[in-house]
Amino acid sequence: MGLRQDALLNIKGIDLEKNVLPKKVSSYFGENTFSMENMRKHISKETFEAFKRWLNEGKTISLEQADEIANAMKDWAISRGVTYYTHWFQPMTGLTAEKHDSFISITGPGKVIEKFSGNKLIQGEPDASSFPSGGIRATFEARGYTAWDPSSPAFIIESKFGKTLCIPTIFISYHGEALDKKLPLLRSDEALSKAAINLLKLFGRKDVKKVFSTCGPEQEYFLIDKNYYNLRQDLLLAGRTLVGAPSPKGQQLEDQYFGTIKERVVNFMFEVAEEAYKLGIPLMTRHNEVAPHQYEFAPIFEESNIAADHNQLLMELMKKVALRHNLVCLLHEKPFAGINGSGKHLNWSLADDKGNNLLNPGETPEDNLQFLAVLAAVLRAVYNHSDLLRASVAMAGNEHRLGANEAPPAIISVFLGEQLSKILDMIEKGVKNKVSKRAVIDLGIARLPKFNKDMTDRNRTSPFAFTGAKFEFRAVGSSQNISTPITMINTIIAESLDYVAQEIGKALSKNKDFNSAVMQVIARVIKETRDVRFEGNNYAEEWLKEAKRRGLPNVAATYEALEALIEKDNIALFEKYKVFSKEEIVARYHIWIHLYNLTLEIEAHTLNEMVNSCVVPAGLKYQKLLSDNLQVITTLKKGAGIKLEVAAVNDLKSHLADVSAKIYYVRRNAREMLGLLEKATKVSDEKRAKLYFEELKPLMEHIRKHVDDLELVVSDDSWDLPKYREMLFIK
Ligand code: ADP
Ligand code: MG
Repeated sequence: MGLRQDALLNIKGIDLEKNVLPKKVSSYFGENTFSMENMRKHISKETFEAFKRWLNEGKTISLEQADEIANAMKDWAISRGVTYYTHWFQPMTGLTAEKHDSFISITGPGKVIEKFSGNKLIQGEPDASSFPSGGIRATFEARGYTAWDPSSPAFIIESKFGKTLCIPTIFISYHGEALDKKLPLLRSDEALSKAAINLLKLFGRKDVKKVFSTCGPEQEYFLIDKNYYNLRQDLLLAGRTLVGAPSPKGQQLEDQYFGTIKERVVNFMFEVAEEAYKLGIPLMTRHNEVAPHQYEFAPIFEESNIAADHNQLLMELMKKVALRHNLVCLLHEKPFAGINGSGKHLNWSLADDKGNNLLNPGETPEDNLQFLAVLAAVLRAVYNHSDLLRASVAMAGNEHRLGANEAPPAIISVFLGEQLSKILDMIEKGVKNKVSKRAVIDLGIARLPKFNKDMTDRNRTSPFAFTGAKFEFRAVGSSQNISTPITMINTIIAESLDYVAQEIGKALSKNKDFNSAVMQVIARVIKETRDVRFEGNNYAEEWLKEAKRRGLPNVAATYEALEALIEKDNIALFEKYKVFSKEEIVARYHIWIHLYNLTLEIEAHTLNEMVNSCVVPAGLKYQKLLSDNLQVITTLKKGAGIKLEVAAVNDLKSHLADVSAKIYYVRRNAREMLGLLEKATKVSDEKRAKLYFEELKPLMEHIRKHVDDLELVVSDDSWDLPKYREMLFIK
């Protein structure tokens, strides 16, 4: 029996211990976090007030206060069985990083106590010289430092044999440059806050002290049985299948979407949710997605920076919990060809410290004018800087999705829904020099309806859609850290909010009536950004042509999309809003190009090994079967004089020739692929990325085509790679 068939026989749901009755979520939500509530209980009132000032106004606490908090955090953690702590951070490679330290401190020969100082809480030195820095850290100053991010609560990660306290931190160089994805996000929120407060002041909202972005990422993923996973080198090393013939039944019946969730999967979901709730991650919905074996989790939205931490944690949890169920959670953007890939719809909005969502139309004409001003700023931001949005989702995995037929295209446009579009059209046409209060009412914006989901969310194909009180950026990849896309959205919108405020100021100096001034600016922005709005089907061929006519960029290649990061005006934008210094953004450009290349090299070498050690031997075995058979038949025909249909013999011959040719092509192309990889070592990273996109990827697809053809004919018992039709249908 073949390896694959052996695995197939051994697939079964695991026997889960019957759970005690599930607890009420509210009774344990966040129990593994050192929340504000927990902190308040364990430290003095003065220190707690100082801590809050730090969060809200950026006034740093003293070292004594940090000591007090560290001590309280340690006591709380130890009371819950924690023995180690780590500074937890998000390096530029996309995973999270941790280096664990014990609380112990030696007090005398053979004696230790548990100790944790404010110093250690605030700063760490993981000696993380192996993290990519894109040249920011010279080798003589290779160290990176972690610094406590007090806005995200510390949390406890449990494993069977112990518990670890994780302290969210940013990761910086000796000179304070960001070496992670978190610090730029925090900076961009600050820029957004300043700009929004400025604009709100014009609208008489002088009470607002802080504005922040909010975010709810919808996480898609696949689950497959671990037995299959172990037999697929491509899934193990590259996270996606590099070969595999399509399953006759894929997603065409559309019987999976929102279907009944299989018991084995729902058990996994229950356990993920329980673990998530303990960490204070507010998971809300779970359901089957479009492709067989594809699912989604979505949380209740939170402040972006917390949402980003929570999404990273959730992805880690999902992977961990899946293994307990003998499943593997695939977060790759395109694990299987021919069926949908996975994305992460990023729901984004902005809120003020008084609890208002700035993308929610209000009750009065003034409120609605403010809503429209913010909306205009968003339109302008996306119109002017779609290149940065595109760059923020540029990566090897996502390159398989963007522009393919199931994901928003690489062309970034905005969908607003019929109702809102109509209102904007009216404003664009209807604004005269003087706008009376009456005119505002006549334009239908005196009381804008609440744009709820049912009214707007009909278009699932738009990459940037208004879905009622929030925008949904749908081009984000499922495995991505959402910090960077949020950072880009925040930055470009901060710039646009500033612009709108400035223009209103200018208009006011000429025209004393506030409403008229605002309406004029809004109308102009609507007109200027008209081309970025598209209400139709973004997957349609006509849209490609139409977008081209409109001059909207359509960038398919990662290397090309990333170039936006180092474009002169964009660097100036980042520097102006203090989100990235030139050095920081250039470093990111280099790291992400490099990462793309590494990913493709891993994939190509994996494919080469699979082809030579797995596919070709199976093909040769089958080829022998065919040639033996042909020989027996021809001998029989001659020796025993058996009459055989000539066509049947010829069919056998041509099949043998066909199989032999495929084996040959697979081997030849694999050799060519190695040659290409060799050639690539001689050129710069940028050129290499281009070469990989233009030549390596098509070659890999070519190899795959022949391999998949072979899979369909080679005898089942000599094909050891689990097949799509097996992997995609869970038992
Ligand atoms: P969908 O139609 O895409 O399923 P939902 O209304 O279910 O949309 O919401 C999807 C996500 O959007 C959820 O994670 C939700 O928390 C998030 N969301 C809702 N309102 C906001 C907001 N104001 N800011 C950010 N995210 C939001
Ligand atoms: Mg959605």
